[in-house]
Amino acid sequence: MSFLLELSWKRLAFDDRRIRSLDVDYVKIGLKVGLEIHQQLGTSAKLFCNCKPELFKGEPEITFLRSLRPTQSELGQVDPAAYFEFKRGVKILYEANTATSCLVEMDDEPPHALNVEAVETVLTAALMMKAKPVDEIHVMRKTVIDGSNTTGFQRTCVVALKGEVKAREKTVSIQHISLEEDAARKTGEEGNILRYRIDRSGIPLIEVATAPVIGSPKEAEEVALAIGRVLRATGRVMRGLGTIRQDINISLPEGALTEIKGVQELELVSLVVEYEVQRQINLLKISKELEKRRVKKEDIKEEFFDVTEVFKQTGCKVIRKALDRNQRVLAVKLRKFAGLLKRELVPGFRLGTEMADRARFWGRVSGIFHTDELPAYGITAGEVEELRNAVKPEQRDAVVFIADNIENAKDALKAVIERACEAMKGVPGETRAANPDGTTRYMRPRPGAARMYPETDIPPMQITEDYVEEISSRLPELPEQKLARLMKQYRLNQKLAKQVLDSEHGELFEVVVKKSRVSPTLVAVFLTETLKALKREGIEAYKVSEERISEIFRSVHAGELAKESISDVFIWLSRHENKGLHEAIKNLGLKMISENELKKFIEKVIADNKRVIQERGENSFSVLMGTIMKNLRGSVDAQLVSRLLKERLMEITK
Ligand SMILES: [Zn+2]
Repeated sequence: MSFLLELSWKRLAFDDRRIRSLDVDYVKIGLKVGLEIHQQLGTSAKLFCNCKPELFKGEPEITFLRSLRPTQSELGQVDPAAYFEFKRGVKILYEANTATSCLVEMDDEPPHALNVEAVETVLTAALMMKAKPVDEIHVMRKTVIDGSNTTGFQRTCVVALKGEVKAREKTVSIQHISLEEDAARKTGEEGNILRYRIDRSGIPLIEVATAPVIGSPKEAEEVALAIGRVLRATGRVMRGLGTIRQDINISLPEGALTEIKGVQELELVSLVVEYEVQRQINLLKISKELEKRRVKKEDIKEEFFDVTEVFKQTGCKVIRKALDRNQRVLAVKLRKFAGLLKRELVPGFRLGTEMADRARFWGRVSGIFHTDELPAYGITAGEVEELRNAVKPEQRDAVVFIADNIENAKDALKAVIERACEAMKGVPGETRAANPDGTTRYMRPRPGAARMYPETDIPPMQITEDYVEEISSRLPELPEQKLARLMKQYRLNQKLAKQVLDSEHGELFEVVVKKSRVSPTLVAVFLTETLKALKREGIEAYKVSEERISEIFRSVHAGELAKESISDVFIWLSRHENKGLHEAIKNLGLKMISENELKKFIEKVIADNKRVIQERGENSFSVLMGTIMKNLRGSVDAQLVSRLLKERLMEITK
């Protein structure tokens, strides 16, 4: 899926939210949310080696293939999902280039000592959140099973404990603030081969974990934003999409604890929480319904029916393709589940979707069919009838079936049965991954505890009191202080000042204003409201560097570019990534005319409108101004035109 498409998809979801938002009393249902915010640090090198913390584009210089091994913790526990992947024979193709990776990322050389710059940044953020630094930093290994680390574990270390962050009136306690290495990024999957790019491996991440005390979706978002503000205030974090990721733990007393991974934008947090609450509430309703129907665990049997014959002449493309490959169609009966598989949990996601997710994960199948949604997909009413004859369900039973090789289909149906049994209990505790629209999908079972063990290759690092004091003495200003300063120093109103504070270009604002001397309000509006609007229109704003933006405003100050043309130039630059500002101005025909040329044009307009001026005197100003701007918009400064025109009219009409 292209980047743009994902963006518009998300926008749709945002609009959807206004309509579908449920009226839930979050206090009454006992919602508890905890956040783990991960943000890449803007250090000059990676956490355990000297490689540049950058991502590369284009073809990799190096690739290497590794098998996924079931990593074992020191206690001898094997993660069931990891073991399953191992049994499946999954292999991983790692991609690298030499500018962004060395032997450390490839796990062919031990890690170097902890990057002090990263430690200092985390200590700075920790002290800003009133956390207490540890005496000694111990690097630990956290088992990772999906191939995103060449080592099979992620290195992490606690730097400070017990802080706090203020979000509106509420103060939320921070459990710990840690320093971690980022993992490789997944770039593809073909059959049993997963593809990962290790340029991202080892980029330092700060992790801020709150206590699970947040009580509503909105509060969760406010806390996330507040933490994000403190991190940005250090001035040493990376910017842009993919540099910040949230994990959200959500639990309801009657439901379960769900861990949602990889929410990419702070602004999505409330929606993710809202959806998860909806999902759990609707799953609980299904469980009550099953109770009413008196379904017992023993009712759901691992009894598979081979119904391949039923679909011999099928017009369903998916099944046809499977049969052409000599695969089979296996079915299972879900007693008294009829009508429940099509129950919507969150917009577009049903219990059937959750079963399909499980089937895909454990059986590698492409999807499932079930009687709640048939006839459809080219499956006829006659085929459904034959299916019923073969499986012999009772009226309130649902039938689920899968077309694949027997082994995959069986694994997948077993996973469906397991999910059905969980539906009787209510909400399964699981790890889910965030989609860009705020919904989530099944990722894996929740891992057991105690997945950490010491990293023996790296000695502990002392954090002395003197060192902490030294960092404390030069902490950056806190977000609330900065807000007050922005309002006072640049005369911004509170709303605009807040937007600047939360903008990814917050620092650029001050740089631009100082360098260009353009009106602070003009710069602030462009960097916040205008950019937001442009992004909404699908403009790929990230393609224009901060340096270019700075240049645009310098040109405005120098009188080379009219402020009315800033957006046009920005849009052009976003579409011509390698072109410069002067080319933009030239191509858009925006070259500013000189004051002399302007004066000549004003004289011409005055001559053309003699009668109007005679009739209306100085009141003819607006007509003349309109004519001039219509002709010269983008190549003159409106204020200058206004001043010169007024002067001339005064002279003439005296
Ligand atoms: Zn390296």
